[in-house]
Amino acid sequence: MFDLATRDIKFLPGVGPQRAAVLSKEAGISSQQDLLYYFPYKYVDRSRIYSIREVDGSMPYIQLRGKILSFESIGEGRQRRLVAHFSDGTGVVDLVWFQGIKYLLNKYKLQTEYIVFGKPTLFNKRINIAHPDIDPAAELKLSALGMQPYYNTTEKMKRMLLNSHAIEKLMATLLQQLDESLPETLSPALVHAHHLMPLTEALRQIHFPSNAELLRKAQYRLKFEELFYVQLNILRYARDRQHKYRGYVFERVGEVFHTFYAQNLPFVLTNAQKRVLKEIRHDLGSGRQMNRLLQGDVGSGKTLVALMSMLIALDNGFQACLMAPTEILANQHFDTLRELLCGMPVRVELLTGSIKGKRREAILNGLLTGDVQILVGTHAVIEDTVNFASLGLVVIDEQHRFGVAQRARLWTKNVQPPHVLVMTATPIPRTLAMTLYGDLDVSVIDELPPGRKPIATLHQFDNRRVSLNQSVRKQIAEGRQVYFVYPLIKESEKIDLKNLEEGYLHICEDFPDCKVCKVHGKMKPAEKDEQMQRFVSGEAQIMVATTVIEVGVNVPNASVMVIENAERFGLSQLHQLRGRVGRGADQSYCILVTGYKLTEETRKRIEIMVRTNDGFEIAEADLKLRGPGDLEGTQQSGVAFDLKIADLARDGQLLQYVREVAQRLIDADPEGALPENEVVWRQLKSLRKTNVNWAAIS
Ligand code: ADP
Ligand code: MG
Repeated sequence: MFDLATRDIKFLPGVGPQRAAVLSKEAGISSQQDLLYYFPYKYVDRSRIYSIREVDGSMPYIQLRGKILSFESIGEGRQRRLVAHFSDGTGVVDLVWFQGIKYLLNKYKLQTEYIVFGKPTLFNKRINIAHPDIDPAAELKLSALGMQPYYNTTEKMKRMLLNSHAIEKLMATLLQQLDESLPETLSPALVHAHHLMPLTEALRQIHFPSNAELLRKAQYRLKFEELFYVQLNILRYARDRQHKYRGYVFERVGEVFHTFYAQNLPFVLTNAQKRVLKEIRHDLGSGRQMNRLLQGDVGSGKTLVALMSMLIALDNGFQACLMAPTEILANQHFDTLRELLCGMPVRVELLTGSIKGKRREAILNGLLTGDVQILVGTHAVIEDTVNFASLGLVVIDEQHRFGVAQRARLWTKNVQPPHVLVMTATPIPRTLAMTLYGDLDVSVIDELPPGRKPIATLHQFDNRRVSLNQSVRKQIAEGRQVYFVYPLIKESEKIDLKNLEEGYLHICEDFPDCKVCKVHGKMKPAEKDEQMQRFVSGEAQIMVATTVIEVGVNVPNASVMVIENAERFGLSQLHQLRGRVGRGADQSYCILVTGYKLTEETRKRIEIMVRTNDGFEIAEADLKLRGPGDLEGTQQSGVAFDLKIADLARDGQLLQYVREVAQRLIDADPEGALPENEVVWRQLKSLRKTNVNWAAIS
């Protein structure tokens, strides 16, 4: 059979062993099929001519037709450049070269009609095009150019003369050699039902589109296919797992739950909390093992939902466990749960790395006998030495610190895997959640408890320190507490720590009447806890910290957060940090301090933060600004990203659609036995074999 995957790229005319090695290393192109699936990242319409009057500096590549009026050589030595004043009668642009001046002066003539192709920029109030492509208008057939593809290349590729244009040529060679159609990778039924372009045609059009409409159809077909198999893989995996494992049935909602509801619940549940609890109750009673992701912005009241779910486990004779990513958080959860359960005969224990010796032994024993009903802890709770009498439900707080593998370890903690509820305050856009955690059902708390004042977010340049300090002083005088947060990343750890220490000294000087504490990740845990405690207790008014305070810490009296070097934080991280304030009844403030010079992207980030408190809106914006690969949670989740054409930020609707298509196919053909789906199952199998990331979860 005709299989491009087995044809080495080096045998394609124009490649050879040396360039093949570079292609493979730099772009992952080893076979001719790999090349065919190396899609352009953009197209430039070379059939269109703009008039200079229309052009502005924000346009992408454009094409002009006109004449050079005069040449001018400007500057001396290395600054020297050649400028050609170029006009089409509607205006003038400057064509600029920094090299090869003599050659150019020879080559291009005045009063000859040229087609100029390049990227316009605005410089000194004039439109410039640097190093344009120029062809005599008489020689260029514009209609033959059509849409020109552009391919990503690296410096190393360019050194081997593999620039975008060279890739384009290789692609043309490859497509010319294709004299028969490639085998279809979707079933005829799917192609027909969804009006998809046949594979071979789509691959031709994606590289060399005949026109915009056919390009769109080709893109649709290829995106459809890509997302379809991602979803089919995940849904199939989830189904297989459900078949393999039964879930414990929690059929009762009994005394513990009802007592809590009637006597201990300190407030009315929000509608969102009620809805989510209903979803969870349904899962727990269904006989399937629950795997649910609970998303809710900071402060939306996830802990309470976790607790009430755990009480259902208790009502059915099971134990439950709540796992947090840090010791501080585990402590806080432990205190919260004990307070909420006050007066009820429920035994809750805390297990962290620092609980040792007799105390630890007693807890481990209590778990084995079943006396300990709820265990709160860190990673320590999934160690092999921790065993339960009958663990029925595990709640994991702050998902992004736990990978798929760690989740899987929990399943061995009982004869059947316990139910799993994963809570995250990093709102993950729906599209991403479906792809990353497609095997999890998703619940969303999209409502904050009543009476919260939205946090006011301000942007301040760092040269306005005096007025900033004045506002902070005023808040402290009113009895509030304040965070000052500094960035700290591995790559620049030394400098960052120095900045933090200097910042700390300045703050101590600027606020002589205040007690200032300091926390960062390089401190010993005991020291960190002690400093933290000074702030929690209210003894210290100011906390200087790195992002270690990002997750979960709850100090309702802290109402101001100053984020230093805010330009160095990602959107999600800024939002997480901001969530540390606004937990009490007072008006809270988040002040983003940046330098004066900001990049376009940074300015957008700051603008979004100032404009909205909505975590989902922020997560969507983050996805758009940075792309899914960089989003928090993607790397740690264990399912990395390698989408070739679909874009999770833009193709959300299509993703939802193909997910339903994939689900219907599985429902109609649960055993994978229908002849009409043969192509699909074969393709899935082959993708699972070649795609490392897919293999990891299947
Ligand atoms: P998160 O979702 O960030 O974990 P928490 O569970 O810590 O949020 O809840 C934040 C605060 O809101 C807590 O002090 C909690 O007691 C309070 N809270 C939770 N649910 C409600 C509610 N329905 N009404 C009022 N306050 C609530
Ligand atoms: Mg929480």
